[in-house]
Amino acid sequence: MTERTFSIIKPDGVRQGDTGKILARIEETGFKILGLRMVQMTSRHAEGFYAVHKERPFFGSLMEFMSSGPCVVMVLEKENAIEDLRKLMGATDPAKADDGTLRKDFATSIEANVIHGSDSPETAASEIPYFFTSLQIQD
Ligand code: ATP
Ligand code: MG
Repeated sequence: MTERTFSIIKPDGVRQGDTGKILARIEETGFKILGLRMVQMTSRHAEGFYAVHKERPFFGSLMEFMSSGPCVVMVLEKENAIEDLRKLMGATDPAKADDGTLRKDFATSIEANVIHGSDSPETAASEIPYFFTSLQIQD
């Protein structure tokens, strides 16, 4: 089933100059890019996005990191998009990420792990409109 997911190249990925390389890997894996733009989140915008992690000890640091520079936000489409993007991303902690994953190849820490991907159809359905209006999604 064709499915949509939401992804962010986090500020570390953009800062490292890895945006193009990460986008190429996403396209080579068969994703169609339906929406794409750069955005610098305020920490309040990041708080809304990662609200499920509010009580976690790393939340303050995560908010600072996510608002520390521009990100690239994307809507991606593919068969099995949600699971396949999570596979391409690799484990949250790059030290535990498999070979061939984006986090293994580009991430530098459990926080600075270069990419976000929706983890379920429900989160994709709420994360996409958090950043994109329907007019900004080409289908
Ligand atoms: P994402 O939601 O960004 O796709 P994920 O689903 O792999 O990542 P989550 O558990 O949802 O991981 O954590 C969200 C983000 O919070 C992580 O990607 C990472 O940037 C940061 N994070 C998670 N765990 C830690 C930690 N122990 N210390 C610091 N930062 C963390
Ligand atoms: Mg997550």
